[in-house]
Amino acid sequence: MKTLYKNAVVLQNGHSPVIKNGFFGVDGKLISYVGSKAPEEKYDSVIDMSDKIIMPGLYNCHTHTPMTLLRGVGSGLPLDKWLFECVFPIENRLTREDVRIGSELAMLEMIAGGTVSFSDMYFYPEETAKAAVEAGMMANVSRHVQAFPFDPPGESDKRINESLELIKKYNGAGDGRIKADFSIHAEYTCDEATAKYYSSICREYGGNMHIHLSETFKEHAECKEKYGKTPAKWFYDLGAFDSSAFLAHCVAIEDEDIGIIKDSGASVVHTPTSNMKLGSGFMPLKKLLSSGVNVCLGTDGAASNNNLSMLEEMHLAAVIHNGYNNDATAVNAGTVIDMATVNGAALQRREKRGELREGFFADFIALNADKPHMRPCLDVPSIVVYSASAADVCLTVCNGRVLYENGEFKALDKERIYYNAERAVERLYGQ
Ligand SMILES: [Zn+2]
Repeated sequence: MKTLYKNAVVLQNGHSPVIKNGFFGVDGKLISYVGSKAPEEKYDSVIDMSDKIIMPGLYNCHTHTPMTLLRGVGSGLPLDKWLFECVFPIENRLTREDVRIGSELAMLEMIAGGTVSFSDMYFYPEETAKAAVEAGMMANVSRHVQAFPFDPPGESDKRINESLELIKKYNGAGDGRIKADFSIHAEYTCDEATAKYYSSICREYGGNMHIHLSETFKEHAECKEKYGKTPAKWFYDLGAFDSSAFLAHCVAIEDEDIGIIKDSGASVVHTPTSNMKLGSGFMPLKKLLSSGVNVCLGTDGAASNNNLSMLEEMHLAAVIHNGYNNDATAVNAGTVIDMATVNGAALQRREKRGELREGFFADFIALNADKPHMRPCLDVPSIVVYSASAADVCLTVCNGRVLYENGEFKALDKERIYYNAERAVERLYGQ
């Protein structure tokens, strides 16, 4: 099936010139044409995209999808209280079925908001993987490893085994759309022996390593007090950065940490809403960008956000650092678009994705610019980053498959997912 979209504004990435009145061709899973002149070859169907902006699908590089069932719980608490006193007790009641339902609810939201791929960290991750296969999305799933002093014997080994089992069963599932990553929750929820051992397996395997790093100044200072080094140095010394690592938050990192991250080739995932909501602070984005680190964007889970809108993360990333640095040039719109798209594809190690180029995979979205807040559409990257919201997404396509179009879900059954989510919430909260 060959489809030609015509009269569209085409944003190939955050740094190339925008094509106005453009033509965008899709042949099966691949992009077959991008240009300002009509292609010579014939297409099976031609769709008019007047007043629509076509751009690459978004990559949510740090989330916990099943946490949609905990949307907004513990709002107003600082991170340590929020996590240990509010989130963990609810998570202890979550069943495998709840994880599946929460993941599906998250996928509805992500698809409707233009996200085509996400990097997840949670337990029962095979349920998230199965749901992503069905939803038609790409997903890097992981079962995070933790080690607590109060664990019963063998508990951290059990978590490691679950992670390895996931990798064995689901890496490459869904025609390669699903990848299974390694993951250590954080320095403060792990011990040295476990982190070192698990990192060595990741290195041998050649996997990706997903970690929460220096999310708060408190956690960062406590690590220095305990080990005499920063969390970044701690993970580096234990071999966690020998693999292709990606580090969520990085609010409290120091200049030396940025050097370690850059030299290790690790990526950083900026989560501005979560950092602002939990009062964690400002990631040194300007420094990270100028040092050449691959910086991506993520929403974090719905408990600390409260939504999974990548366009909202893009907006915040673009404005808060200019304000924080008293510098209107600190972060520009094109850079933010790349953070949300092509940089995410690089973090997930997905080739020929994240940009709209001929021969690349057809992962793209369309924004409806026929709305008052999108007019006049003079500077397209600036309209996308500063004016648009998730509600403006009118088309989401992943791997050439239409997942969402004008409010209608093509792969997922919204009514069934809503019904199941309500039953799960009744079980979880007794309402
Ligand atoms: Zn997180």
